[in-house]
Amino acid sequence: MGNGVDAMRRNILFSDLPKLCKGKISGVDTPSAILSLSLDSRKVFSGEGAVYFAIKGPNHDGHSFLWEAYQKGWRLFVVESLPKDIERFENASFFLTSDSLQTLQELAAAHRRRFSLPVVAITGSNGKTIVKEYLYQLLASSISVVKSPKSWNSQVGVPLSVWPLADHHEAGIFEAGISQPGEMARLKNIIQPTIGIISNIGPAHDALFTSREQKLAEKMKLFEGCKKLIYCTDHFAIDRFLSGNVLPGVAGIGWGQGKGAKYAVSTVGSKLKLAWEMGKVEIDLPFTDDKSVENLCHAVVAALEMGINQSILARQVSVLSAIPMRLSLKEGVFGSRLVDDSYNNDFQGLEAALDLAITHSHGKPISVVLSDILQAGENEKELYKHVNDMLVSKGVSKLVAIGPTISANGDAFRMACEPYVSTEAFLEQIKEKQFAGQTVLIKGARSFRFEEIVKRLQAKVHRTVLEVNLEALQHNFQFYKSILEPGVKTMVMLKAFAYGSGSGEIGRTLQYLKADYVAVAYPDEGVLLREQGVHLPVMVMNAPEESFDKLPAYSLEPEIFSLSQLQNYGEWSQGKSEAPPIHIKVDTGMHRLGFATSEIEAVVKLLGRYPTIKVASIFSHLAGSENNAFDDFTHVQARTFLDCYEQLSRHLGYKPIRHLVNTAGISRFKSYQFDMVRVGIGLHGIEPTEEEQGQLTVVARLKTVVSQVRRLAAGQTVGYSRAGKTNKNTDVATIAIGYADGYPRSLGNGKGKVLINEQLLPTIGSVCMDMTMVDVTGVDVREGDEVVVFGEHPSANQVAEWADTIPYEILTSVSERVKREYLSF
Ligand SMILES: *Cc1c(COP(=O)(O)O)cnc(C)c1O
Repeated sequence: MGNGVDAMRRNILFSDLPKLCKGKISGVDTPSAILSLSLDSRKVFSGEGAVYFAIKGPNHDGHSFLWEAYQKGWRLFVVESLPKDIERFENASFFLTSDSLQTLQELAAAHRRRFSLPVVAITGSNGKTIVKEYLYQLLASSISVVKSPKSWNSQVGVPLSVWPLADHHEAGIFEAGISQPGEMARLKNIIQPTIGIISNIGPAHDALFTSREQKLAEKMKLFEGCKKLIYCTDHFAIDRFLSGNVLPGVAGIGWGQGKGAKYAVSTVGSKLKLAWEMGKVEIDLPFTDDKSVENLCHAVVAALEMGINQSILARQVSVLSAIPMRLSLKEGVFGSRLVDDSYNNDFQGLEAALDLAITHSHGKPISVVLSDILQAGENEKELYKHVNDMLVSKGVSKLVAIGPTISANGDAFRMACEPYVSTEAFLEQIKEKQFAGQTVLIKGARSFRFEEIVKRLQAKVHRTVLEVNLEALQHNFQFYKSILEPGVKTMVMLKAFAYGSGSGEIGRTLQYLKADYVAVAYPDEGVLLREQGVHLPVMVMNAPEESFDKLPAYSLEPEIFSLSQLQNYGEWSQGKSEAPPIHIKVDTGMHRLGFATSEIEAVVKLLGRYPTIKVASIFSHLAGSENNAFDDFTHVQARTFLDCYEQLSRHLGYKPIRHLVNTAGISRFKSYQFDMVRVGIGLHGIEPTEEEQGQLTVVARLKTVVSQVRRLAAGQTVGYSRAGKTNKNTDVATIAIGYADGYPRSLGNGKGKVLINEQLLPTIGSVCMDMTMVDVTGVDVREGDEVVVFGEHPSANQVAEWADTIPYEILTSVSERVKREYLSF
């Protein structure tokens, strides 16, 4: 850890805790140095000095995992109550406090106080993570920088982000996010920033604040005590707010096009120009969309204010990628799976990339292809020793080490290691088969051009791809968890290939996030989930009699919706000890499947005849939860459901799980969340009522490319049946998607639009099986350009409207021949 003696002096000891935070030590009072912090017993134990914090959330209590953590190796604990069986925890130390989260925050704040260095804090409604990643990439080649991993900006994420701060660091960059009043002051105390950036202010979390101004005032608390605050003067609300001199002692550093900006910014083509009193720079932009350029300006101004050399700045900007944090999961050749992180290689990102590889490897061996880590500061030998420890702790079986420094440090690695001095040297002798069946993490600094390795190992792809953002999935899942009443379970709906996004990847991610139950439509979907490493309980909504024999081997629990089905299941289960429990569906008004209220008595009788059948849950489905015009009907459905539930559970003598609402019902009918909710489309960032849309992030993005562009004269026709007609000179682009890919044929002839180079452009002519033509007249569109069919813009909701259907159909129609690619941080 850094330079010996100094680091030793700096470490906070577990026995220091009572001096720093409210609480007392119980069990062994140890002078152990606190080296790492964890809230998650699923993670690999990180060795001596690791502290496990038991934190209580609305739906999760870290205290339930104390024993699991102990068994994995933790001996230092911060708790709000001691375990009842404390004598089992031999040699363990507990810090007993009334608020574990506060202890975590105070500890991180005390750690932060030990260092004096420039620390940048970033907040704003959007773009925090991107601004942070850009700034990091601008600085990290010349100084040693610590930053928040991923988008760790919460009450928990911030302390964990600040903790790795060490002697060799020369700057820190942390993001801070809040969802309710009062939170920012706590984050400020932890980060103790010297420079602030406010990216922008939008509608996210509006509901919890009385006004936009109140939200802005709350966010600005982060910057109290900063020397400088960077902001865009063209954001009117922010500019006006700051002109009120609300932050005494903080110098406002505005940039923008208008007057009053310290940095006058303009873009000409793909050049960004900044001019200020002391100088000016011109930078070639690697991208030109407004959002990315705005995010970049924040980072560039911050870097200039931190004294970055201008030629380094220009060079670093030229190699930025628009969306820097993308780590993607792809299908490889010979049944392998690739985790592609060929954009950057920093030590902090390695753990996240490995965790993604582990989550999706389900037991298959993991190999890592790793380049030199180009990170200023830490001593090389130490660095690669840490890399080795990380790879070992994650169970990596093989390393391909590429680059002059990592290959020279080959003896640091205690696993099979193949060293190469360069990417070319590896490519020359690469044998694609060597990774058959494995999960391969490919992580390299930009200059190593690891995309060449990815190209060689990737299964050949159709250029139409459904991009699935697993980070967005996590965000949406956590959003729904946050609006659940305490203790309410989640059943995640993974039917229809998880709404088109891929049941294995979606299922494993939600399993990792601790969803409680899974539901699928058919037994085969359940079998697939099991084969893909999902071991949560699974409810199957349509399990015909022929499938019963298959259910026990895969622990699939059938929904039972009719008397004949119940009787068949009862007969079949006779003498079978392993018959899975059932889920009883009551029809309260949907009139699709389920027992009528008049049949409940008969159900009770049949259940009495087959006492070995266990009922896991009783549920019903709402017909109009998304529409307030049907609210009266919904209340009637709920009352009917409760009556049936009462009757059934009284006779059973126990209380099966009670569940009623789907996505739209979760927020609209809080009191009907009961024991569990069934969430489907909301996980994908699509909200049928659009009420919560601002809080959700779109998960799936269907994209393709332009295959050809041609100019047609007036009076020509386009496509089959000469359906598209040109009445003037018309530029037509043919794109590589058709109805066989799931693009509805009804979107032809201008009904649908796609996004090319930021412009929504209409179809022309009929949609063909594999291709569609688009009228691109007047827009600079070329062969190979990316086309967004649905995603953020246009949204699946919007496309559904054009096609006169609902977003569910748009999502689930994307055909299997379209490759899925999974993105994460
Ligand atoms: C599909 C389905 C859901 C999920 O509905 P969403 O509107 O996508 O949240 C819930 N319950 C049942 C019975 C379903 O079939």
